Amino acid sequence: MSGFPATLFQYLVVLFLCCRLSQVVDSSSIRNTEKTKEITNQHVVAKPNDVVRTIENPLYEHQPISREKETQSWSYSNPEAWPFLYPTCAGDRQSPVNIETVLLKDYSKFYFGNYGGIERMIVTNNGHTVLFSLPLSSSPESIPYITGGGLPDRYNFFQFHFHWGSDSSQGSEHRVDSKSYPAELHLVHYNAKYGSFANATNHDDGLAVLGILITVGKPSHSGFRTVVDQLSKVESDGDETMLEKPISLNDLLPSRTTSFFRYSGSLTTPNCEQSVVWTVFDNPIVVLEDQLSVFRNLKGKGGLILVNNFRPTQPLRRRIITYRSHTGCSVSRNWSLFSPRIKDVYQYCKCIASFYAIFSSTFSS
Ligand SMILES: [Zn+2]
Repeated sequence: MSGFPATLFQYLVVLFLCCRLSQVVDSSSIRNTEKTKEITNQHVVAKPNDVVRTIENPLYEHQPISREKETQSWSYSNPEAWPFLYPTCAGDRQSPVNIETVLLKDYSKFYFGNYGGIERMIVTNNGHTVLFSLPLSSSPESIPYITGGGLPDRYNFFQFHFHWGSDSSQGSEHRVDSKSYPAELHLVHYNAKYGSFANATNHDDGLAVLGILITVGKPSHSGFRTVVDQLSKVESDGDETMLEKPISLNDLLPSRTTSFFRYSGSLTTPNCEQSVVWTVFDNPIVVLEDQLSVFRNLKGKGGLILVNNFRPTQPLRRRIITYRSHTGCSVSRNWSLFSPRIKDVYQYCKCIASFYAIFSSTFSS
């Protein structure tokens, strides 16, 4: 096989095709609309939280909250009231957000360490969600972690949990071009240099959460069945069990992790600390409708059906969402993928063309 492209004509053809391809691939998950839409709150039941396990307190979704304060506080039925008890929830870097316009960035790829089979996890229904967390006794060298992906440091895995809707028209916390997904998985990590999850919540770069959008279809994503199989043991608020089968975090990741959105935000539950470096993969994982039904049959606080445990999207304000395309190509300004400037198109396509040229030469003899 000869080198690629062999002639100027072929080069131009490839350049054109790459432009078209990049539009198809990148715009498949990014849509730029003219205006930001206010999302109405459709939440009905359930409550949330963010996790940490202490001796006395139950697991919370992302962070520790005292039992006393938690019981008097908030629910997903009135998230607009959260700031009265938790002022940070009215901050200017809140999550989740609706993703509409992006700035392309050439972040490095993620590295997922120790993301293979995890044998010991605690599975908990805390009345707000279902949590899969590492026992406190986990040996430091076995803790899963992430580096790369534009993150400043190494982030240790802490727990994962889900948000889901009463039906598949809603459920995700993040939206892409105002589109909701039926559910969203959050893999929560803390910056290793801060030593603990609780301490890390006090720093802007303290937490790194990987958001994985979940859609319905066939076949089901490989790792999801193991998760669903555990749910029968935690049907009601307060139920807790140990993992029965090993779970591989690798099997919960989307098939492509080289393209993702990035922005600075917060925990999506009180206290809403603005300490999260958010990554939302643009490539959702696919699960069966029946598998989501198992989530929808769980019981939350007061024995109510646990559904719609997602926070409405929050104003982006002055924040910029960046995006790593699968090629790693970047354009140095906010770029609407649906109405790009000619100069940006040229710069981006030139990068795409060189990417495929390198790719081709690597595999040609
Ligand atoms: Zn979450």
